[in-house]
Amino acid sequence: MARRPIIAGNWKMHNNKAAARELMDGINYGISKLDASKMPEVVVAPTYTALWQVYELIKNEPKVALAAQNVNPNPKGAYTGEISLEMLADFNVKFVIIGHSERRQMFNETDEFINQKAIAILNAGLIPIICCGETLEQREAGVTDAHLEAQITKALAGISADDVAKSVIAYEPIWAIGTGKSCDAVEANRTIGEIRKVVAKLYSQDVADKIRILYGGSVKPSTIVEQMAQPEIDGGLIGGASLEAESFVALIEGAMQ
Ligand code: PEP
Repeated sequence: MARRPIIAGNWKMHNNKAAARELMDGINYGISKLDASKMPEVVVAPTYTALWQVYELIKNEPKVALAAQNVNPNPKGAYTGEISLEMLADFNVKFVIIGHSERRQMFNETDEFINQKAIAILNAGLIPIICCGETLEQREAGVTDAHLEAQITKALAGISADDVAKSVIAYEPIWAIGTGKSCDAVEANRTIGEIRKVVAKLYSQDVADKIRILYGGSVKPSTIVEQMAQPEIDGGLIGGASLEAESFVALIEGAMQ
């Protein structure tokens, strides 16, 4: 069975309530003109404070799913500043982004913590979007594939084959995030193929054929068609170009070609 593509917008720390409404209104308007039967799965990841606003704007719109940018794996307790899966469920959140390089680098998140989050997310019936990616130094040293294998193996530790098959991985080379310098589509395809081989080695070819693996890193309307034409790339995790309705809708249209 073909894997359904995903176009996911990670709004990061942008958009208060009013700006979130404006952006979501623009996206809803843009996609209202698109053929629903050909659309990728469209996902938006607002900040926690805009989740309610966006939830209200999409609750009757089956073409858009909600993602959270993070979650704490504990069910409740003394975790100041954190948000639980039960809280995300209030807003019908379907996906949770975990292991983003910004969280790994700026907030010292470890592979073990990311694995705990993946397990908690799947146990709650949500879907993790597990980010992985190499630094420029790692790429230049020729250790990209080994690094990704280690990240993926640790993120998936203890997770069943069925749960892995429904999960999503986002390959995001750190040197391509927010730099305007997207990874060459053929090389992104090769690298994602290597990640799929890791999943096949850990589980089975069937699981590897089912898991969706996205590319992220300076995806733009001008790059998406070539990226989506690659057989291993199942969609995009998009930062900057998801912050304007026009470019985000153009990415969705690009994924439909
Ligand atoms: C990201 O941070 O996940 C990302 C891919 O950002 P950008 O599209 O801006 O490179």
